[in-house]
Amino acid sequence: MVHSSVLGFPRIGANREIKKVVEAYWAGKVSAEEVTKTAAEVRMSNWTELKQRGVTYLPVGDFSLYDHVLDHSAAFNAIPKRYQGQGLNALDTYFAMARGHQANGVDVPAGEMKKWFDSNYHFLVPELDETTDFKLNYNKALEEYNEVKALDKDSRPVVLGPITFLALAKATKEAREGFQPISLLPKLLPVYKQLLSELKAGGASWVQLDEPILVTDLGASFESQFVSAYQELVPVSPNIMLATYYGRLESNVNFLNKLPVAGVHIDLDRAPQQLDSAIAALSSTQIGLSLGVVSGRSIWKTDFQAALKLVEKATSALGPERVVVSTSTTLLHIPVTLANENKLTEEQKDWFSFALEKASEVATIAAAASGSQDAKVSAALEANRTSIAKRREFEKNSDDSIRKRVASIRPEDYERKNPFSVRREAQKKLNLPKFPTTTIGSFPQTKEIRQARAKLGKNELSEVEYEEFIKKEIESAVRFQERIGLDLLVHGEPERNDMVQYFGERLNGFVFTQNAWVQSYGSRYVRPPIVVSDVSRKGPITVQWSRYAQSLTSKPMKGMLTGPVTILNWSFPRVDISRELQAQQLALALRDEVIDLEAAGIKAIQVDEPAIREGLPLRRADWDAYLGWAGNTFKLATAGVKNETQTHSHFCYSDFDDIFPQIQRLDADVISIEASKSDLKLIKTFKRYGYSNSIGPGVYDVHSPRVPPTEEIKERLKAMLEHLDQSLLFVNPDCGLKTRGWKETEASLVNLVNAARWARENY
Ligand code: GLN
Ligand code: ZN
Repeated sequence: MVHSSVLGFPRIGANREIKKVVEAYWAGKVSAEEVTKTAAEVRMSNWTELKQRGVTYLPVGDFSLYDHVLDHSAAFNAIPKRYQGQGLNALDTYFAMARGHQANGVDVPAGEMKKWFDSNYHFLVPELDETTDFKLNYNKALEEYNEVKALDKDSRPVVLGPITFLALAKATKEAREGFQPISLLPKLLPVYKQLLSELKAGGASWVQLDEPILVTDLGASFESQFVSAYQELVPVSPNIMLATYYGRLESNVNFLNKLPVAGVHIDLDRAPQQLDSAIAALSSTQIGLSLGVVSGRSIWKTDFQAALKLVEKATSALGPERVVVSTSTTLLHIPVTLANENKLTEEQKDWFSFALEKASEVATIAAAASGSQDAKVSAALEANRTSIAKRREFEKNSDDSIRKRVASIRPEDYERKNPFSVRREAQKKLNLPKFPTTTIGSFPQTKEIRQARAKLGKNELSEVEYEEFIKKEIESAVRFQERIGLDLLVHGEPERNDMVQYFGERLNGFVFTQNAWVQSYGSRYVRPPIVVSDVSRKGPITVQWSRYAQSLTSKPMKGMLTGPVTILNWSFPRVDISRELQAQQLALALRDEVIDLEAAGIKAIQVDEPAIREGLPLRRADWDAYLGWAGNTFKLATAGVKNETQTHSHFCYSDFDDIFPQIQRLDADVISIEASKSDLKLIKTFKRYGYSNSIGPGVYDVHSPRVPPTEEIKERLKAMLEHLDQSLLFVNPDCGLKTRGWKETEASLVNLVNAARWARENY
């Protein structure tokens, strides 16, 4: 009998219950008990659904109120000193690490957030040094394991593996020079041993240890640590399912059989070709193989026949008892259920499956692979065959004019007419002072804005009334910026529900969901649009708003677009044509928009590419191919303008060290980039590469409500100016301000403007 499992499940609740309760707690409106109660209800409802769908091993312990990596740091007592002794209880310390805390005399910034592998999920980077005093503060996996017992159902606790935890960590500021978090492995293992032995004593027969670091190039360097750590853990632990996902193991597959684990999970969605090498590596052992044949990253229905071929290959090599059918990754990256969608057509609904539907898929594939004669299983197989065939039929309807336009892109379409040194002179027309101040685009999306949008959706507000409302918002954003003295203005993006969805809705080729939320970080969820067919622009998208905003002021107004790579990476792409082709189609649509903005009198145009880094393949061998086409599509979108039009781009949450030449190649006149929490590493990188266009390294963190004092911003500018050419420096926050409130936004920006004025006087 082939069993089935799900590696992890969305923790946001089918109706965003966790966001609601956590935000209410932060606002002081509900108690900690209320949060705990809601969390338990969401977990129970997820497990009940998964059980009903026939999944053998339910995931437990993967739930989180904010981030699962942060949960491990908190549980392991890896709590940086700045959060200790502040008089905060455990829950508030946890949230302070996540988002900073500024109240009642306490003022601590949040920890650093980074993108989780190649996804749009962000984790809080553990901060460690020699003094980190690891101990097990609580055993979340065991607590959830005990909760699910009420359902009388097998579950498999999920724990982030020790090597990945340490590999993702960074050294604290106090750590000695050259300190490597992985050196703490001997100190950390006792905590894992305690955690795992408690699970075993509690009755768990399996535990899933997630080690996605194994699909990166870094994984190989940890071979000896993997072998020694797992040798220590296995004797005290329930059977270990070592889960690898998001990519291919490559040579790491060769040391898996040295690990005394009971099972290994591989991602066959991203890397179906690794099945053969995994079978070869494991066939002489007793290690079981979990096959990630149902994608945890895509919302397209699984092709059962294709999946079954892979499963049958494994069962005939290893025997059915050693094979588990599973999701390729945790389902964290996809929405909870299609059942919440009422606006998709029946045809569209039939193409997709979300987390709960994927759970049914693993159960069906496992049953079919076990030779089940159940009528329900054969009906599901038949229905799947029909759905897949219908989608294949639909895919034949391509848009010839778009395909032809892509095919006739010329090399010169990617390049500006002159180099930056020439453009820079032409851009003096913008009349920006030294150290120009600007923002990244969005201003607070207030309750009023969201309400107006909701009313428009329900026809309680007419198009005309809504437009008037947005115009007022823009006007007040413009007046605000003039009043506090910013130099390069933005219209504030009040009309945008989301920086990707907004564009998707105005392009052909996308479909939208109503409730298909996915966690991006903490209580911030996004609703990625789905690319279903060829993409083209229906007409101008942002021009009317930018033109209106510019008409209100004599200061220059920056147009604001989302870049092709980001639109693609933050959507669910098609899987029947390449991502490159989808990005090219998007780039051509945006190129037309950029040219229209220029014609409307907009002199600075920002094309955001915050997601360019996250789309970077996990294996270096694949980088050039990706960066080649991704960079080209950005260039294609932006290069059509005159010298005097200043192009901007913006990037956040990423290390750019290793891809810097590619950022340089984009040739944006100005880039703004998240930098406030990465010390001066980024600035030094700019210097090392001799970056020669303008840059605005963010001077404060926008992901926390904390207001940066002027002195702090001055200090940052001072430090930056030690390394950067002063004529190239822009002064701006780390990212857009849409998730902030007006109060802290105003206070922070006033301080920013003051710091820039100080710099003008002193440099
Ligand atoms: N222009 C966008 C904004 O300000 C950029 C957001 C982002 O980088 N994530 O909201
Ligand atoms: Zn950003």
